[in-house]
Amino acid sequence: MKRTYKFRIYPTKDQEAILNRWIETCRVLYNDCITERRDAWKQCRKSISCYDQANQLPEIKKFDDGLRSVHSQVIQDVLRRVDKAYQNFYRRVRNGDRKAGFPRYKGKNRYDSFTYPQSGFEIRGDKLTLSKIGDIKIKQHRAIEENVKTCTIKRDVDQWYACFSVELPDAPMKERIESAIGVDLGLTSIITTNTGEKVDPPTYLRKSGKKLSREQRRLSRKREGSSNREKQKRIVRRVHRKIRNQRTDFNHKLSRDLVNNNDLIVFEDLSIKNMLQNHHLAKSIFDAGWHQLQRFTAYKAEEAGKYVIFADPNGTSIECSVCGYRVEKTLATRVHRCPECGLIEDRDVNAAKNILKRGCECLPQELRETTPVEMFVGTSMKQETLCVSEG
Ligand SMILES: [Zn+2]
Repeated sequence: MKRTYKFRIYPTKDQEAILNRWIETCRVLYNDCITERRDAWKQCRKSISCYDQANQLPEIKKFDDGLRSVHSQVIQDVLRRVDKAYQNFYRRVRNGDRKAGFPRYKGKNRYDSFTYPQSGFEIRGDKLTLSKIGDIKIKQHRAIEENVKTCTIKRDVDQWYACFSVELPDAPMKERIESAIGVDLGLTSIITTNTGEKVDPPTYLRKSGKKLSREQRRLSRKREGSSNREKQKRIVRRVHRKIRNQRTDFNHKLSRDLVNNNDLIVFEDLSIKNMLQNHHLAKSIFDAGWHQLQRFTAYKAEEAGKYVIFADPNGTSIECSVCGYRVEKTLATRVHRCPECGLIEDRDVNAAKNILKRGCECLPQELRETTPVEMFVGTSMKQETLCVSEG
């Protein structure tokens, strides 16, 4: 199991200049590699591999001081990134994705990191030693002694981070599920669970969202190409970063709670769920947040040997969680009232119950056998028997 740890680093002005130069050198190389692959393909239908490009490096380096100043493994990693972009592209084409576009050139604000893929970095105390750069102060909020594989240095507007990917041993999966939860994702409440618990977005996130739209409006009024516009762009990027960081903190805590209190967590599969029907201003902010929450929960669960399932969300808010009858609703209908069995339930709680049910249906047989049945159906089981006897 792979994990990434991210720590803030504090380069001096001189070091920052080097980091910026390396990123720029890598970006130019990245774009050159893409050009070369494109041209080769266009002119002679020849595809160039990662190896071909790597073999040319020594020759190119002779004439390029910038490239020579960068650690050789960091350069190799740029070629790997190009190759990865192409492999993704080929895979999408193979899968019949008509929208698959050629790997794109990276503009100045679209290339923000470089990676030491094997060695050339070391943490000692509060210092991160980078080969060919030097010792940079690092704020490490947790120790990592395990198998560190790679080190990526990232720029985030005017802050710097070091990300370490670490290979951890797989945790043994739990053989028995004693507690399970279904989670409905929404806009007014970020999550609603089958037990009726709701978690609202924190007010600071809303405040930052408002600040973002305000600064974006200001940006749209600045003249194209003016220095004020550049300044305003930086401000907008900083607000984006703030929101990103707040959201990350929030999702770390929420996912930690979910995993600590449950052996099985069932989410809606967002790749199926169609959220576009909801034209909410802050949608994009929430959208990224949901994915992150799911990702964080999934890896924390994996570490703890617990289960996360992504269930088909189609119709979960329409179906009655007790009798299965379909009760059509508009987005404005907040309460589920079933004419068949008489269930009256908060719309999202009803959906969360359906999500949990569907997730349990996906469990492998051996897990279902060792898991108490009443937990799958929760209270709805009793109501179901009730409604049958009445009928
Ligand atoms: Zn019903």
